[in-house]
Amino acid sequence: MRITNTFTETRAVAEGAVGLVPTMGFLHEGHLSLIEAARRDNDTVVMSLFVNPLQFDRDDDLARYPRNLERDVELAAGAGADVIFAPRVGEMYPSEQLTRVSVNRLSDELEGPNRPGHFEGVATVVAKLFAGIQPHVAYFGRKDAQQLAIVKRMAADLSMPVRVIGAPIVRESDGLALSSRNIFLSQAERERALQLNRGLMSAADLVETGENDAREIIGAVHAGIGDDLKVEYVALAGQDLVQPLTELDRPAFLALAAWAGKTRLIDNVHLDVADGGYLADRGTRLARSSVLYAIGES
Ligand code: AMP
Repeated sequence: MRITNTFTETRAVAEGAVGLVPTMGFLHEGHLSLIEAARRDNDTVVMSLFVNPLQFDRDDDLARYPRNLERDVELAAGAGADVIFAPRVGEMYPSEQLTRVSVNRLSDELEGPNRPGHFEGVATVVAKLFAGIQPHVAYFGRKDAQQLAIVKRMAADLSMPVRVIGAPIVRESDGLALSSRNIFLSQAERERALQLNRGLMSAADLVETGENDAREIIGAVHAGIGDDLKVEYVALAGQDLVQPLTELDRPAFLALAAWAGKTRLIDNVHLDVADGGYLADRGTRLARSSVLYAIGES
């Protein structure tokens, strides 16, 4: 396992087919599942670890974003990463970043209006990672469904020679989607956050019985969540263009954002075409509690 800090050094150590897993660190099994997928398909697995200031719309969120390089190195190596590219901010942005990438339309709804500048920050840093590391394949989680759509579109629109792969959401055994930010949840907030998954899963059940009216599907999510959480949005959107749908008539995802106390959580379920109907990708559930909760126990 090598730790690199510059693009030049990273390219020099990456041989053969290169798989890239971009992350902001503070790893959990969601990140590790991407490393494992990359390990299966590539000669060299590079995981980037960079808390990208450009994509944070709130200073307090950036300041308190959890970090632990030592722990991340151990977890990434265990999952099969060959290289961890962990640049400093000054290495990633040596001078003011005047060139920005924005993917029109796909950024307009859902997370877009709630997090001004976020997707421009994401697309810009991912474009830099693709240009600087030159991976053959890049792995992203379906957890960030809109981000996945934006990165795929950016790579296609800019003729970037990289294949972008989306992987299923990894969940705690009780259904909570893994997120580095879960570390901030109190026990009571965590209990309440479980309702997000419950709402999505009952809507997924409804879809699988043949319901395709977006109002009914979204209504089922709200009914499952109840009143304990501040919900920012629940939306049904197309997987490619992230446009809100009134009817489920193409591959889509049912997404939400909500606040548990001071922590903003997102979750979704992808609805894929299967056998003349739609099948919900409910993600995978861990058999035991995530490595996130082992912190401080050893
Ligand atoms: P982050 O470190 O939050 O920027 O996430 C890095 C990558 O891991 C992104 O592609 C995320 O979509 C993915 N990811 C985060 N959480 C999960 C999860 N629970 N399951 C699968 N992928 C995830």
